[in-house]
Amino acid sequence: MRIYLIKFIAILVLLTSCGQLNRGKSTHQSLTKKERDEQALNEFVDSPKEVKPKIVQPFKNKAKVSKFCKKTALFFKKYRWKKSNCEKTHWKNVRNSNSGDPLIWTVFGDESKVGERGVESTLIFCGVHGDEITPIKFCFDIIQHLTKEVAENPGILKGKLVAIAPIVNPDSFMKKRPTRTNKNSVDINRNFPTKDWNKDALKLWKSRYRRDKRRYPGKKSLSEPEVVFQVNLIKRYKPRKIISVHAPLTMLDYDGPIDHHTGGIVGTRANQLLIQMSKKARGYRIKNYPFFPGSLGNYAGNERNIPTYTLELPTSNPRKSDKYWTLFRPAIHSAIMHDMRKEIDVAVKPASSKATTAN
Ligand SMILES: [Zn+2]
Repeated sequence: MRIYLIKFIAILVLLTSCGQLNRGKSTHQSLTKKERDEQALNEFVDSPKEVKPKIVQPFKNKAKVSKFCKKTALFFKKYRWKKSNCEKTHWKNVRNSNSGDPLIWTVFGDESKVGERGVESTLIFCGVHGDEITPIKFCFDIIQHLTKEVAENPGILKGKLVAIAPIVNPDSFMKKRPTRTNKNSVDINRNFPTKDWNKDALKLWKSRYRRDKRRYPGKKSLSEPEVVFQVNLIKRYKPRKIISVHAPLTMLDYDGPIDHHTGGIVGTRANQLLIQMSKKARGYRIKNYPFFPGSLGNYAGNERNIPTYTLELPTSNPRKSDKYWTLFRPAIHSAIMHDMRKEIDVAVKPASSKATTAN
């Protein structure tokens, strides 16, 4: 009798779950393709309100950051760049690098709105590889540009939020001879906790990259403070797009949602922005570059469907910094201002080619 009762309950549970599955399917099938696309887009851009992260208050002249700004100023002098305005910037800081330098970021826009519907949030990283000198000046240029824009037109960033981390890897940038890897000799663009990390990161590094010291992914993923820093900024600001600035591969690369992941519309719109950025930078080269175990493009773009753009400046020559900023300012400005929910009217299709070196 007991066995019959258990069987009966099991069949009941099975029937109920089948019914749920079928109901789910029929609702989905009753939508037109356009409706499905719109639904996918809304799910992507307006994910349900989550618990809000604690807002880190900006501060001025906190001793550690103030000291770091003075140190930064020495490098600006060394590279004959104009003033950094580091001391005047409202920085935020939670954690430090392995050497104890503060990992800093600054925010434009209303941070209290993060996670709410309709907030266009952009996250920008520079100086991930310490020997790529030009990107660091580039982020300070973005900060000065936005400071000026907001002063002239206080409403310009309404509904938008921009978070900028200009020196993600200070230990390497501030060495006498800057290096790609961090203080622990880890390539922090191979240390993100991607799903393939445990299986492939060290294996590929040993076989395909022949234990290239410049691309060492670390003993385990997320072992480095500079990676925890980036992961936490992604969690905190839920960006609709990420721009990471590198050098010197001379290209714009895109990692992010592809059509069959999102019903078609998100990947298409993210690609439109890629093309627009290229057009606004005098047709800068677009390359379809692969992503790697532990890379930002894999972690944010591939696994989390956050459109992730890698801007590889043409060289690391610090004397070219002004030239690069002049070339890319319109592209960066339009990317920050662009609302990912809206279409862009672009006619050109991105060229795709295989890359051979690694960013
Ligand atoms: Zn790089």
